[in-house]
Amino acid sequence: MLNLLKYCSQCFELLLLNSGGPLKAGKSRVLYGVSEVFPIVALVGLGKQENKSNPLEERDEAKEAIRTAIAAGCHSLGETNISKILVDSCGDGEAAAEGAHLAVFKYQDLKSKKKPIPTEAVNCLEGLGVEVLTRSYDWAKQRNMNAFLSVTRGSAEPPVFLELSYRGNDLSDEKPLAIVGKGVTFDTGGISLKPPANMDKMRADMGGFIPLCENMPGSRATKPGDVVVASNGKSIQIDNTDAEGRLILADALHYASQHKPRAMINMATLTGAMAVALGSGAVGVFSNSSALWEVMHKAGTISGDRVWRMPLWKHYSSQEFVTCDHWMHMDIAGVMENKDEVPYLGKGMSGRPTRTVAHFAELIASGKSEL
Ligand SMILES: [Zn+2]
Repeated sequence: MLNLLKYCSQCFELLLLNSGGPLKAGKSRVLYGVSEVFPIVALVGLGKQENKSNPLEERDEAKEAIRTAIAAGCHSLGETNISKILVDSCGDGEAAAEGAHLAVFKYQDLKSKKKPIPTEAVNCLEGLGVEVLTRSYDWAKQRNMNAFLSVTRGSAEPPVFLELSYRGNDLSDEKPLAIVGKGVTFDTGGISLKPPANMDKMRADMGGFIPLCENMPGSRATKPGDVVVASNGKSIQIDNTDAEGRLILADALHYASQHKPRAMINMATLTGAMAVALGSGAVGVFSNSSALWEVMHKAGTISGDRVWRMPLWKHYSSQEFVTCDHWMHMDIAGVMENKDEVPYLGKGMSGRPTRTVAHFAELIASGKSEL
């Protein structure tokens, strides 16, 4: 991160004027041979300052403008042959770094001859101080996680219940924040088989506590009409085997609640209807706690990856598996893929709303919330 103006205070304004005039917000222009220190420079448009405070947008528009503009600059420099980009902070180093990092990120592991192996991910996390526990089928069976295990019956791949824990400081008696993610590594729909179109995308359905399994239509697969008894003793009759997310989450939520968390977040694509309701504009969330909602909403305004609260009235639902006072379900069906809606994210799986949840954890850890 650098301050370009230090190197070249007057000349950029002049160069801009001489190269076609001011830039619109989110647009970039590449200039060559500007100085010996910086032979190639991308100038970007941040937009007008007065357009940056619109309360209806419910996000920090100045940060968003920086992310978008820096990403545009990095994209246009990507067409040149340079190997290193230095980024001006534009007044907000974090937003500039996010825009640059997200814009140039490409998942290339599968293109290299050396295939990534899962133990590398474990080593990487453990290096960061995250404790990784991989629980087996027998562990889940002992805990009567029959809802989870019912989803995995049709697959030859064994299920894994992943438990990741991180202690940021020594205050180990503080109640944890529990995050539960749906980890269906491939979802055919099971006996309620999905149509073949777009089934290749059904390996992206993942997000704590992560129950990992495949949903396949094998000869031992769970059938519509079957009844399973989940780990909290409640019985569930399975109607459509493609609605497997709630089954694996039921057992994971019950397990997570035994750790007596101060707040519990679960992330999943439970319903395609959320994509119909909100499109890719925001993550639809359901919560039994207005205090929790306030913090997550604030986190969304900082990250620019917004959340929108949906009703959780008894009229719609009963929450039999949630015993935590501060609980939230984030439905990521509408945001898991990016086409071109968010200009600083690449095409494909978006990773949303990871940045919002990270800010949420930061707000809680810094004591800036009532939770
Ligand atoms: Zn499914």
